[in-house]
Amino acid sequence: MQKLRFAPSPTGQLHLGSARTAIFNWLYARHTGGKFVLRIEDTDLSRSQEEYTASIIKDMKWMGMDYDEFYKQSERFDIYKSYIDKLVAEGKAYYCNCTRDDLVKRNQARGIYDEVTKYDGYCRDRNVQPGNGTVVRVNVGPERDIIFKDVVKGRIAINTKELDDFVLWKSDGSPTYNFAVVIDDSLMGITTILRGEDHISNTAKQIILYEYLGFSIPTFGHLPMVFDTDRTPLSKRKGSTNIEYYRKQGILPEALLNYIARLGWSHGNDEIFMLEDLIRVFDITHLNKSNAVYDEKKMIWVNSKHMKLEPLEKVLAAFAVYLEDTNQPKVGRMQDESWLREAVDLLRTRSDTLADLYRDIQPYALDEYELDEKAKELLPALKNPANEKAYDEAKARILEAKAYDSALEQALREISEKHGVAFKDLIQRIRIQLTGRTVSPDILSVMRLLSSVLSKRLEKEW
Ligand code: GLU
Repeated sequence: MQKLRFAPSPTGQLHLGSARTAIFNWLYARHTGGKFVLRIEDTDLSRSQEEYTASIIKDMKWMGMDYDEFYKQSERFDIYKSYIDKLVAEGKAYYCNCTRDDLVKRNQARGIYDEVTKYDGYCRDRNVQPGNGTVVRVNVGPERDIIFKDVVKGRIAINTKELDDFVLWKSDGSPTYNFAVVIDDSLMGITTILRGEDHISNTAKQIILYEYLGFSIPTFGHLPMVFDTDRTPLSKRKGSTNIEYYRKQGILPEALLNYIARLGWSHGNDEIFMLEDLIRVFDITHLNKSNAVYDEKKMIWVNSKHMKLEPLEKVLAAFAVYLEDTNQPKVGRMQDESWLREAVDLLRTRSDTLADLYRDIQPYALDEYELDEKAKELLPALKNPANEKAYDEAKARILEAKAYDSALEQALREISEKHGVAFKDLIQRIRIQLTGRTVSPDILSVMRLLSSVLSKRLEKEW
């Protein structure tokens, strides 16, 4: 059975890049009928914050990513410590009390004045005892290639001379990322790890630890970066990478997940996936080797498709979350549940986002509505004498109608013929009158939606 995990550090909000890692791992777990673990990597106690853990979980839930197991590394220090003791006892790790200054001085004595980036192994054979200020380092051992087969990039080889005796346990009594991650991935039975390519050299370090601990090595896949359309790395500074940003912009969670899944994975030329289909076709053999490019316009386009395709219930639920998250009230008729249902169903096909939908519902929901620019421009010509006569007769017919159906449409058609005006001009006159807009869903649906205020609207003087 496949078991995958997402292991965020709670040092910031979930952003597009890390969400993609979560999505790929989650999709693959669900595709294979395996398990998905959420593990909060909060070993860096000074940088981790509880509020980020909460917001990461909130964003994952919003996108529909559920998990089968949940862990926090900060609750597992005793487990990690027992493996440290084992490695030290076996000579595979050692205590070290060198300070940075010591290292700089030793390097300078050897004529090296570069910034210190690698440890020189000074304490390896000195049998330093644990105590204040000591760390535990791994003994990387003789020079060799660490080789693994990456599911995205193919064969990767890293020579241990690129590495040093890196720290496993810090002097403040906490494990490092590279150490805790190996213990957890092994004990939790993780079979496949998909993560950003910035972790490739960490993977080499981790493989050394898997070997030292006698653990079996999972399959790794390192995902290329996501770039902006201007080919610079996506950055939080641009404000558009936190998942919260998309939620507040009125993007549907299913659409965002769909869009992000296509950043570095493909299934032929398919762009639009309903979630069940995505789970069905998602495999790790079609992860791309090249960098992905984030394109906001395309993301909105994908959203506009999902606005039409998702079941109404999902759009309604997402709309409610959007209003709550952005502190916007349900106004006027929107407070009537069944009215809102009808309005959302009717208007969602024309709205690119939930934000557009909220804006587009306003003239239907509120008693006050204005002519938009196009309507202002068009109305005078539509109010020609013949069309006005037709309009007056149509108004009376609409007001006495019991139903807004094909019989009413037929009657309006006859009225336009009788007055020698184009049917579409009569309808446009009615549309502008009722909505203040030159475009709307079909006119009978509009009448249905506005049935409680039809006479008021039809009588309104513009
Ligand atoms: N906590 C690490 C990070 O957020 C996890 C990396 C990994 O997947 O191993 O970068």
